[in-house]
Amino acid sequence: MTNQKFSNNTLLSHDPHDDQHHGAVTYPIYQNSLFTFSSVEEYEKAREKMLDSYLYTRGNNPTVKLLEDRIAALELGEQARCFASGMAAISSAILSTVQTGDHVICVDQVYGPTREFLSEYLLKFNISTTFVNGCNLDNIKSATQPNTKLIYLESPSSILFELQDIQACTNYAKSIGAITIIDNSWATPIFQKPLLMGVDLVVHSLTKYMSGHSDVVAGVVVGSKELLSNINKNEHLLLGGILSPQNASLILRGMRTLAIRMEQHQKSGLKIANFLEKQPFITKVNHPGLQSHPFHSLALKQMSGFGSLFSFETNLPYEIVKEMVNHLRLFRIGVSWGGYESLVTLHKKNDNTQVVRLYIGLEDPEEIKEDLQAAFQILQKYQTENANS
Ligand SMILES: *Cc1c(COP(=O)(O)O)cnc(C)c1O
Repeated sequence: MTNQKFSNNTLLSHDPHDDQHHGAVTYPIYQNSLFTFSSVEEYEKAREKMLDSYLYTRGNNPTVKLLEDRIAALELGEQARCFASGMAAISSAILSTVQTGDHVICVDQVYGPTREFLSEYLLKFNISTTFVNGCNLDNIKSATQPNTKLIYLESPSSILFELQDIQACTNYAKSIGAITIIDNSWATPIFQKPLLMGVDLVVHSLTKYMSGHSDVVAGVVVGSKELLSNINKNEHLLLGGILSPQNASLILRGMRTLAIRMEQHQKSGLKIANFLEKQPFITKVNHPGLQSHPFHSLALKQMSGFGSLFSFETNLPYEIVKEMVNHLRLFRIGVSWGGYESLVTLHKKNDNTQVVRLYIGLEDPEEIKEDLQAAFQILQKYQTENANS
């Protein structure tokens, strides 16, 4: 594990000195598929060390490498590898750790497509997965089989915002010789550094906070040189789901403001979450930064801050909640999150609980609150009428 030499803000604003590009302040986009050599000897030397050379952009590209080095430094990992999407990074990380006949334990609140990859796609390699409530380590322990090779975590999860005790999970994984992977998209390396808590591989959807402007789909895997060299040779180079230099440049640009964006998201998110807790028709606010959250003290222990994606629950009928969501003006209805714009999605927990997931963007939090207040009149009216009838 490498040390972080500079603080987050300095790291994100300061590029390594580069005297090859006329002093250009922005690193160039190397928009090329291949690299050429001045002699056969040089070419052969590069081929011998193919994984470390600039030979072909499916292997390495300088613009993508600058981004990979920056993310590795932020996560305190030895190496990072970027992919064309979060799912390309996640499926590659998983495939690099399991063989035919292996068993995986995964938290049941994991991102939907990750769940589908584990529970359905991997069956064709005879790799099975047990999904457990990850809030309690005992559930992971009792799901363990002699062939358990991987424990997959996502803390917090991204609909109900449940946490796992990361250090306890990695201690246990090491005791049974299993690898751990965590999806760190919600907290980002600004607020959570899982490699410091013994996690082997950190994965991100760079589509979300890291790029931060809703204009790129991308992913990354971070970890030790040893684990990454396998991924480089196999899942990255052979499966080929690489990140384009153009998109790497957009992410580098978006990440300039990652630390200050996260501060603002945290502030606005907590403000709205506190406001929601006071509403009579809301039964629960799922935000780990609230004292009422069942894992608030664990959150304070393993995170240094909070993202602004969270949810609230209500027992009012789906149709009424839908009407309220349709009335929101500053929240656009849409999947994903992590950009500048506030977003909302609606989920059904069970027959009488609706989950409304909010993503608090960079708009003025007071105006976001007013927008919610106005739409909530629909819920308030319904509740009053029904209490009186
Ligand atoms: C969006 C998301 C992913 C998948 O990332 P893509 O870039 O869409 O492939 C994975 N995990 C979490 C928590 C996400 O929100």
